[in-house]
Amino acid sequence: MIYPSSRKTVLDRENPKEKSSLDQVNFTLKPLELKDYLDRYIIQQDRAKSIIATKVCTHFNRIQFDRNLPAEDGGRSVGQIKNNIIMIGPTGVGKTYMIKLVAKKLGVPMVKADATKFSETGYVGGDVEDLIRQLYQEAGEDLELAEHGIVYLDEIDKIAASHHLIGPDVSRAGVQRALLKPMEETEVDIKTPHDPVSQLQAIERYRRSGKVERKTINTRNILFIVSGAFTDLAGIIKKRMQSHEMGFTADVSSPSHDARYLHHVRAEDLVSFGFESEFVGRLPVVAVLDHLTEGDLYDILKNPNNPIVTSKKKDFKSYDIDLKFDDAALRSLAARAALEKTGARGLVSAIERTLIPFEARLPSTNIRRLSVTGSTVEQPEAELKRLIEAPDAQEVRDDFERLSAEERADILAAIQAQSDFLQVKYSMALTPTRAGLLADFISDHFLDLGAAASQLDQIYESVEGCALTFFEKFGLTIEFTEAAADEMVRRVLIEGQAADRVCTMFTRDFEYGLNLIKEKTGQTRFKIDREAIMEPEKYLNDLITDLFQNLD
Ligand code: ADP
Repeated sequence: MIYPSSRKTVLDRENPKEKSSLDQVNFTLKPLELKDYLDRYIIQQDRAKSIIATKVCTHFNRIQFDRNLPAEDGGRSVGQIKNNIIMIGPTGVGKTYMIKLVAKKLGVPMVKADATKFSETGYVGGDVEDLIRQLYQEAGEDLELAEHGIVYLDEIDKIAASHHLIGPDVSRAGVQRALLKPMEETEVDIKTPHDPVSQLQAIERYRRSGKVERKTINTRNILFIVSGAFTDLAGIIKKRMQSHEMGFTADVSSPSHDARYLHHVRAEDLVSFGFESEFVGRLPVVAVLDHLTEGDLYDILKNPNNPIVTSKKKDFKSYDIDLKFDDAALRSLAARAALEKTGARGLVSAIERTLIPFEARLPSTNIRRLSVTGSTVEQPEAELKRLIEAPDAQEVRDDFERLSAEERADILAAIQAQSDFLQVKYSMALTPTRAGLLADFISDHFLDLGAAASQLDQIYESVEGCALTFFEKFGLTIEFTEAAADEMVRRVLIEGQAADRVCTMFTRDFEYGLNLIKEKTGQTRFKIDREAIMEPEKYLNDLITDLFQNLD
């Protein structure tokens, strides 16, 4: 909620606020909560996750705080410095991924662009403004939401002066200067000047809403995050540290790429790297991301929340083919990816290289299951041939069973590892049956753990809601045992029915019988166990038999 009632602003009291698009923004998220969220998706990068989580949360909490100050200018002080962030780290180590996750968790729009693109048109200022306009599009043309978005600029190191010129007309310093104002505060027209289409759209919107809309986006609260690989930066830092700390110029003739130095980066190093000091001044927060080892790449593949494996499974599922990987396959893929030196991006290409022959052939066969084992990765063509020649061989079937069981065990282990979080976040106690339901739900629907748990929780809530409906409609108190609730949820998951179908099914089975018993005996409280759900008729018959015996 954006306006806690105890902290309403003067403005709000005067104009009771209608539902705002900012209601979707999580302004009050705490750093540790965001860090925990990132931990569930991002392997390693602990320091960067912590810095980003902290500074992004502070940015949004501070906006909220300022908005609630009863000062005339909304509490905003002049010259306040925004927590814009610079991320330093090689390709494929999670920079973009981290910011996308952050934007999703906060509920704010995000746009990404490469800084290099700004020099291409020779109209840098216009390009930067285009990016802000893109944020407006991303926010569904909601101005307030766009004004709280995130602009992510990659390849920022390519606009530093020490690198090769990237555009013929515009200097890299020019690109940096064009970014200064938007990074602090400026107004950007939501319409491209002189663009007839946007003019027409504005007229159309006026016709529909009868309101003349505000025409500019203010960038004061837009968070800018820039990133790059900064290949030579480690050498610059090393040189500075050695000359300062040892009091003499150490041997720095061979430029160091020792990434560990990056963690000691200071503003002066970024200036030496080729940035204007005003530009560096607008990036007060630095987060360094480390190179990922082969072991890290394997952990990424093992994490059921990671989209790399899931996305490949979905590709195959779109041909109705179930894809499973075993541990040896994941290790082998990680080893291959590590050789490419492109971080986790190497994983995508290693998986593609292995599976393309299968993706080409299998959709035209009757084969609907594919087990990716160590030998599939080592020799895809031979394995494909073997599969096509004997798709029903016992060995092929055994492999698939084994891989399915392994995968389920992995998901269960991941659920177990996060059980504390799941118990706190969702109201359901995570019993073994529920962990099993969650595991099946995750693997059948390619969901990540958080999304699956949240959906499962909603289904449990609708089961509780069903008991409430019975009370409201018939004055009957229904008490589901844990096993009964689990069974109802299982049915929803397996039959793929909408959650409210649970209640419809329950009502259909029990409404008449229970009301009859109430009429005859006055009994209004019923305990429904799993057996009752499995065999409603028997349950009701037993109740009625008891009833007549008691009457006798
Ligand atoms: P970059 O650092 O170049 O911005 P990305 O964040 O785009 O790289 O990474 C590409 C993909 O690799 C991501 O979408 C994600 O699936 C995976 N990935 C990269 N780094 C990590 C990590 N540290 N943990 C988990 N997945 C990662």
